[in-house]
Amino acid sequence: VEDEPTLLETLEYNLTHRGYQVCTAADGPTALEVARQEQPNLIVLDVMLPGLDGFEVCRVLRPEMNVPILMLTARDEEVDKVVGLEVGADDYMTKPFSMRELLARIKALLRRVRLDREEMAAESKEARPEQLTFGNLMLDLTRCEVLRDGEPLHLKPKEYELLVFLARNRGIVLSRDLILERVWGWDYGGGSRTVDVHVRWLREKIEPDPGQPTRIITVRGVGYRFEG
Ligand code: CA
Repeated sequence: VEDEPTLLETLEYNLTHRGYQVCTAADGPTALEVARQEQPNLIVLDVMLPGLDGFEVCRVLRPEMNVPILMLTARDEEVDKVVGLEVGADDYMTKPFSMRELLARIKALLRRVRLDREEMAAESKEARPEQLTFGNLMLDLTRCEVLRDGEPLHLKPKEYELLVFLARNRGIVLSRDLILERVWGWDYGGGSRTVDVHVRWLREKIEPDPGQPTRIITVRGVGYRFEG
């Protein structure tokens, strides 16, 4: 959903080229109509739109359908991000952005949704793995314990939750906002610096060399990725 014809065309071209089926809208009301009709797997939504802005579209659609929404904003203001997260956006990109990064984020979001569904399916079958092992690191999810070389690590509750979230989504780039939302919750008042601080603490406990992390990788400008 984008009201700038050139950008809309570029997005459509690139996404179609990558094998996605694309439906477009250039204003808020049309976006609602198309979304309800087509039931998309993912929505890329511009914030500044005629008729109804992206936040409003997001607010209306959120309770109607369980679809990941990636918002595009021209303004890099924290307040916009907060509003966007409150209305239920899943990820954010500030214009101008590279098509390559957008495609990567779309892929990550779709993959996350698929993993969530698989996780839910696994949970319902009670087949969820109870232990995750990465080299000398073992996460015992039943006992809420992390072992390094067989020795239990003393992790704070949030460090543990963060590590489990990263490990379950290993190989996927996770934005700070997403990590904040999933580990700390919507109502958490602190900023995304909290994520950085906890990552630093975790690295000191789980990385062979915290100065040269090989498990929790920083993805510049986006967030983190856990290497299994
Ligand atoms: Ca716009």
